[in-house]
Amino acid sequence: KGPDPDLVPIAERMATVKHKILVLSGKGGVGKSTFSAQLAFALAARDFQVGLLDVDICGPSIPKMLGLEGQEIHQSNLGWSPVYVESNLGVMSIGFMLPNPDEAVIWRGPRKNGLIKQFLKDVYWGELDFLIVDAPPGTSDEHISIVQCLDPTGVDGAIIVTTPQQVSLIDVRKEVNFCKKVGVKVLGVVENMSSLCQPITDFKFLRMSDNGEQKDVTQWVWEYMKEKAPEMLNLIACTEVFDSRGGGAVKMCNEMGVPFLGKVPLDPQLCKVAEEGTSCFTNKDCVVSAPALKKIIEEL
Ligand code: ADP
Repeated sequence: KGPDPDLVPIAERMATVKHKILVLSGKGGVGKSTFSAQLAFALAARDFQVGLLDVDICGPSIPKMLGLEGQEIHQSNLGWSPVYVESNLGVMSIGFMLPNPDEAVIWRGPRKNGLIKQFLKDVYWGELDFLIVDAPPGTSDEHISIVQCLDPTGVDGAIIVTTPQQVSLIDVRKEVNFCKKVGVKVLGVVENMSSLCQPITDFKFLRMSDNGEQKDVTQWVWEYMKEKAPEMLNLIACTEVFDSRGGGAVKMCNEMGVPFLGKVPLDPQLCKVAEEGTSCFTNKDCVVSAPALKKIIEEL
C-alpha cells in the first residue's frame, strides 16, 4: 500500500493554520463539545482567528449548541465555507452535512474516515491562529484517522475533558495512553462539572418536619440574612455533585504524568444557554475554558 493520497491536500489546507488542538474525552456527555465551543469563543474574544471543527460523527452537537441547526454549507471554488458566528470565528460541523438531526448515523469505519478526511481537505479556513477539533468520544478508528491526517501537519496536542467520577476517569486513562501511543502531546486534562456552584440567592430553602412535610422558608432565611449578615447574600454555594473520593482528575494526572489544567463547576446557566442554542458563549466569560486558555496562550 502506497502513501495515503489525501495527505498532501490535507497538508496544503493545514498550511495556513498555525495551531491545531484536539479536544478529546473518554466518554460522551462530559462536556467536550461545550468546552470546545467555549475555548473557541474565548480565543476569538482575544482577537485570534479561530476555526471550530466538529467531527463527532455520531453526535455532532455543535450546531445545536450554537443555534446553527439547519445551516447550509456553501461551496466556493476555494472549498466548503465554514459558518461564521463572529468575523474571526468559523464553525464547521459534520452535523451540517446530515439531512435530518433525528437520523441515526450508522456508517462503517471507512465511510466515516472518508468524511473526516474530506473535512480536513476541503474546508476553506483561510489563515487561522487556532483550529479547535471537537473529536468523537473514546479511542476509535476515527481518532486514528484524525491523528494520521493531522499529525504530519503538526498537531500541538490534545486537551482531554472528563468528569470527576471513576467511570469517566478510567476511560480518560485509555485516552491518555492512546495519545502516548500515537505521539500526540497531552496538553492537559480539564475536570468538568466538578461541583455545582450557584449564588446563594438562587437557592430555595426548605424546612423538613418530622412528619415529612416540607415548608419553604426561603423568604425567612433571606430576611434573617439581610438583617444579621447582609454580606452573606453575595456568597456562592458549592456542592460536590459527583463522588470524587477516588481523588478525581488531579490524582489521575499525577499518576499518569500529564498536566492537570483545572476544575470547572457545573453551571446551570451554561446548561440552559447551550440547550437553547443561544450563542451564549459570547456573553459568558468562558468559565469552562479558562484553565486551558491560560496554558494555550502562554505555551503555544
Ligand atoms: P460531550 O461533548 O462530552 O458529549 P456536551 O458538551 O454535549 O458533552 O455536554 C453535555 C451536556 O452537559 C450539555 O447539555 C451541556 O450543556 C452540559 N454541560 C457541559 N458542561 C457543563 C457545565 N460546566 N455546566 C453546566 N452544563 C454543562
